[in-house]
Amino acid sequence: MPARRLPTLDLKRNYDRVRDEIRQAVDKVLESQHFILGPEVRAFEEEVARTLGVPHAIACASGTDALVLALMALKVGPGDEVITTPYSFFATASCITRVGARPVFVDIDPGTYNMDIGQVLESITPKTRAVIPVHLFGQMVPVEELFPELEKRGIAMVEDTAQAFGACRQVGDRIYRAGAVGDLGCISFFPTKNLGAYGDGGMVTSTKEDLAKSLKSLRVHGSTETYFHDTVGINSRLDEIQAAILRVRLRHLQEWNEERRQAAARYALLFREYGLQEQVLPPVEAAGNTHIYHQYVVRCRNRDALQAFLESEGISTRIYYPLCLHLQPCFSDLGYAEGDFPQAEALSRECLALPIFPELKAEEQEWLVSSMAEFYRH
Ligand SMILES: *Cc1c(COP(=O)(O)O)cnc(C)c1O
Repeated sequence: MPARRLPTLDLKRNYDRVRDEIRQAVDKVLESQHFILGPEVRAFEEEVARTLGVPHAIACASGTDALVLALMALKVGPGDEVITTPYSFFATASCITRVGARPVFVDIDPGTYNMDIGQVLESITPKTRAVIPVHLFGQMVPVEELFPELEKRGIAMVEDTAQAFGACRQVGDRIYRAGAVGDLGCISFFPTKNLGAYGDGGMVTSTKEDLAKSLKSLRVHGSTETYFHDTVGINSRLDEIQAAILRVRLRHLQEWNEERRQAAARYALLFREYGLQEQVLPPVEAAGNTHIYHQYVVRCRNRDALQAFLESEGISTRIYYPLCLHLQPCFSDLGYAEGDFPQAEALSRECLALPIFPELKAEEQEWLVSSMAEFYRH
């Protein structure tokens, strides 16, 4: 066993910074004994809407449910196609098959790892009902370019904002916030996300009044008045305890995202200092983007051996994602094959997610990068 350890994420260090505030917030809910869709959820929805500059925010039970609810609100179903990226977390594609529609994948941009917008436009058919851009690892897709093209064609845009709460893009003098550009935006509050709860949680943001109304009904079994159902919805709510915790954490998020950005800048500096430019390609922040580094994913030579070496030193890393969505066994009936999306497939072989979290220390990063340099010397 190595004496020192560096995990990819250490939530305990973060909890140490907010313990008192969190305990007070949770205690307030316990004293109120109001657990589902109460004042904390309402206040949190308003705070998120204000933070992102969207008119509507509807909390639900997870990021996965947010995506399913979004497609349900859009009435996407059998016979419809939804275009998305093959390089994302599973839920980005499973929400499409869950409502009976067909995922259509397009390859990624090798620089940002995000979906290639040109290929999205080429893949539109008369059956296309929606597009799900994923702001992967914390960096935005240039959705301000994509959205007008989709709107012209009557196609909805659902932003998968699970990894990008707080990310934005500046184009000219306009700021676009992740989750606030398209018809709907889907957020996850899974504990490891930048804005994480202490359990599951999610939210759908909406720029459209009618969709927001549907979502509020769909999350409570499709009813607008209890026990009367116009549509069949699901049971998917954020609970009061999680909302109270998230309200505390939201107040600190900007600072924490800034600390992640500083850690990312330090990695880039260290790779240069240790002369690793040939072996390690740091993530590319596209012009105008404020990347919030939900993950810090590099491309590297000899990835699997490097990962094993680091693990033996006591340093944990992760692979996001080892198998592209179009190659998942459960989607084999879609008819995709290896070689269909060469950029995404290459990334799945070369990517390595290094530890990143607000409390990551400079000396831990130096330890990691010097270990990488040691590996590549042999
Ligand atoms: C985490 C994540 C989800 C799902 O969120 P859950 O809250 O875990 O259900 C969806 N899409 C992406 C890109 C994610 O990273």
